[in-house]
Amino acid sequence: MRLDESRRIFAAAQEIIPGGVNSPVRAYRSVGGTPVHMARGEGAHVFDVDGNRYVDLVMSYGPLILGHCDPRVVKAIQAVAATGTCFGTPSRGELEIASEIVERVPGCGMVRLVTSGTEATMSVLRLARACTGREVVVKFDGCYHGHGDSFLVKAGSGALTNGAPDSPGVPAKVAGLTLVARYNDLAHVAELMELHGASVACMIVEPIVGNIGLVKPKAGFLAGLAELCRRHGALLVFDDVMTGFRVARGGAAELHGVAPDLYAFGKVIGGGLPVGAYGGRKDLMSRVSPAGDVYQAGTLSGNPLSVAAGLATLRACDEPLFHARLEAMGARLQAGLEGAAARHGVPLHVGREGSMICPYISRRPVDSLESAMASDRALWTRFFHAMLANGVHLPPSPFESWFLSIRHDEAVVDAGVEAADSSFAAATRA
Ligand SMILES: *Cc1c(COP(=O)(O)O)cnc(C)c1O
Repeated sequence: MRLDESRRIFAAAQEIIPGGVNSPVRAYRSVGGTPVHMARGEGAHVFDVDGNRYVDLVMSYGPLILGHCDPRVVKAIQAVAATGTCFGTPSRGELEIASEIVERVPGCGMVRLVTSGTEATMSVLRLARACTGREVVVKFDGCYHGHGDSFLVKAGSGALTNGAPDSPGVPAKVAGLTLVARYNDLAHVAELMELHGASVACMIVEPIVGNIGLVKPKAGFLAGLAELCRRHGALLVFDDVMTGFRVARGGAAELHGVAPDLYAFGKVIGGGLPVGAYGGRKDLMSRVSPAGDVYQAGTLSGNPLSVAAGLATLRACDEPLFHARLEAMGARLQAGLEGAAARHGVPLHVGREGSMICPYISRRPVDSLESAMASDRALWTRFFHAMLANGVHLPPSPFESWFLSIRHDEAVVDAGVEAADSSFAAATRA
């Protein structure tokens, strides 16, 4: 496989873009080698700048639930592009997409559009602090909520103490307002809340964790968080940026029958264009400016291009059996991967929820950050490079979820499984 053009672009980019990329995971630091530079996508496939073709299992980390260049999305974008891309005024599409979101998501009575998932979580945190008059936020180990200061925080020295900055530049005083709890460990969260509950504004959680691969909540975990929040007067926030509208029509809350007080959204609702949103209980969202006193604004918020792409995407997800089809293809990929791994003596634990899937090379089940980190990274890295050589584009980290789109049909999934079979063989031979 030739990657000459990718190599050339990357070498030049490293001189004038930090690390040659505009988001760190793209630099291949954890797997080594040259990042493949994509030129074009079509359905379930991508083509790089050297003309190589891949089955795409990255799908831009989630937004492209309809696949690349869905004709309905392309048409919607073209129509808006020809009539004006932004006005700095309200527009009809914003009402339409807000209606689509509110109609789908349990307990979401009002929604505000922003421009990224990061902006959504930062805004929802300000709102939760304003509504409760408290300052502390509880997050969970391994959950990612974008790069806001309050979320780039790791557990402090003790398991029940305040957090520490997870990046230079994050003030210790800000990190100190974040507490880091263990995902899927309700007893630990309860203990944390006994100690700190009276100052906690909100708990924010990825209801299904897609940022350490794919870890599902244990039975009763999400309901337990809701109960703890109620008891301590804190708000529960679901960060549904990755899972929203994907794991079910109404997102993780619909799937698990637990509705939070507030939500952060992104990815799918922009159909591949920049977007984010936050929403939830009407009494809380009514505090957002100018209905209320909590300030938040954006020049490109509710951008007509993003809104049009998102609307076309959400509406297409309403086709009969849409999510059932994603689930069926996810199950087919999981079974195929498990079979291929078994044939080559590779221990595999597959985390999956519908079209989000992460095969951990591990002997034990993965239900937390700690167990995810215990998987075999060296073997996974050889597998990654073999998959690329066999024409499958994977996220360049063992701790990222893979995504299917509605364009990943039986033939595409089976091609992926066939590549995985050869790649497990290559990875174990090395
Ligand atoms: C991607 C993601 C974000 C951040 O969204 P951006 O649009 O990249 O800023 C926040 N939360 C979760 C769960 C995500 O997966």
